[in-house]
Amino acid sequence: MLTPSDIVAPDKRTPGVMAIEPAIFPMLGSLYARRIKRLNAQAELQRENRDYFRFLSQLVQTQQQILAQAPLDQTEATAIHALLKHGPDDTQLGTNLSSLQNWQSAYTILAKQLAPMLPPDMGQSLCDLSSNKTLLINNAAHLLRSDYQQVNAGVAVVVWAALSSSWAQAIALRQNEAVVHPAAQAVCCPCCHAPPVASLVLGGAREGIRYLQCSLCEVRWHRVRAVCVDCGASGKIDHWTLDDAKSAIQIETCGDCKSYIKTFRLDYDPELEAVADDLGSLSLDKAMEEEGFVRVGINPFSFPA
Ligand SMILES: [Zn+2]
Ligand SMILES: [Zn+2]
Repeated sequence: MLTPSDIVAPDKRTPGVMAIEPAIFPMLGSLYARRIKRLNAQAELQRENRDYFRFLSQLVQTQQQILAQAPLDQTEATAIHALLKHGPDDTQLGTNLSSLQNWQSAYTILAKQLAPMLPPDMGQSLCDLSSNKTLLINNAAHLLRSDYQQVNAGVAVVVWAALSSSWAQAIALRQNEAVVHPAAQAVCCPCCHAPPVASLVLGGAREGIRYLQCSLCEVRWHRVRAVCVDCGASGKIDHWTLDDAKSAIQIETCGDCKSYIKTFRLDYDPELEAVADDLGSLSLDKAMEEEGFVRVGINPFSFPA
């Protein structure tokens, strides 16, 4: 069954001459719907991790409810864009996070909805964090600065989901001013500076064009293919799959810097969703790490320990 894409169609006013957009902004409602569908599919496929996939499905359903029940307003969107311009190393990051209300409300809604699905002590620590603003802000600042080890892995997933909900809405509301870093060589998101989840090769009117997908604000940014997304070299790029060469989930490795990135071939299978299907294909990561390659980017549902 075909489902509508969450990627906005390209501008077709000039037939045959389609410029490659440096960034594609997601339609969040459709993106969340697709992610929920793929997480539910993984819950059926991967019986041993079924409870975790169900938990994640509930988390994304709650993000979807937040869009309707506690949407970001223009004033906060402006404040988030100001924060993004300063970058994650800004000394005022904590103060600025403290003055933004939307992500903190999103966290409270997420913690309340998700706590009953968790072991009691984990559920309690999620809820306790709602009322400990200082610790909540410290955790958020650590995550935005990629200091993942400073935050409990379970808590990190929910804090990131709250930040993601607000950041993605801010980017969607103000697309014209969203790209603040040059996109063409960017390893991290040109809008919010977070690492990518994975690489996507698109189908349809953008057949064969490669974009990286942001783990935080959900933007996709263009990177040319056959060039390492990390070091920019092109001499020792290889592609790997677990089964046949036409597999829709592939790994691109760079022999120069020993990095790898997972690639979802939406031109082969348009149903794939990077965040959910990445978690469903961790055996590929294991195989690459055994070969000595280091992953570019993170999955926001499985932070590096
Ligand atoms: Zn981003
Ligand atoms: Zn490289």
